[in-house]
Amino acid sequence: MKIICIGRNYIEHAKELNNPVPKVPIFFLKPETALLQKNQPFFYPEFSKEIHYETEVVLRINKVGKHIEEKFAHTYYDEISLGLDLTARDLQANCKKKGLPWEIAKGFDGSAPLGKFLDKSNYADISNLNFSLKINGEIRQDGNTKDMIFSFDKIIAYVSQFLTLKIGDLIFTGTPEGVGPIKIDDHFEAFIGEEKVLDLMIK
Ligand code: MG
Repeated sequence: MKIICIGRNYIEHAKELNNPVPKVPIFFLKPETALLQKNQPFFYPEFSKEIHYETEVVLRINKVGKHIEEKFAHTYYDEISLGLDLTARDLQANCKKKGLPWEIAKGFDGSAPLGKFLDKSNYADISNLNFSLKINGEIRQDGNTKDMIFSFDKIIAYVSQFLTLKIGDLIFTGTPEGVGPIKIDDHFEAFIGEEKVLDLMIK
């Protein structure tokens, strides 16, 4: 199982980190050991002083595919959830400056808290889906998938040119604006519409 993460997929988020808006999707991978499920807590590691949350819609791939055409991409996933793409922003800044890979900043243990999956057929239109993040009861990110630069189906078509998608692979589809630091004792709750799908404590 692999975790594919799309970077800079919402214009306002690209701007808040002073990144250019991409012409094609940008993706990177997290290892399976990054997953944190069933509301397990995240333990703040010693190697970073600035870990940020990024709330993202997550797709779970339901069949094997390569070179998937965009028009068929919607048949490769039937469940969605939310995840947090936890990012050690201090380590990432150093990687960016030196042109180094991002794995230490993005792929560390527990860097992919994942919520419960919901059937996409519950929603009239997943390309117009509200999702939000509360920290300690206060709304901190409030996004809608209509603001994605690359749609779910475009992402699948693009990524599957390079990587064979397999059953159970996860795709984190990028974060809207409003990212910020996590702190010990923070309580994170993420919602698709009104429904809570993720509950996470930072310890
Ligand atoms: Mg992200």
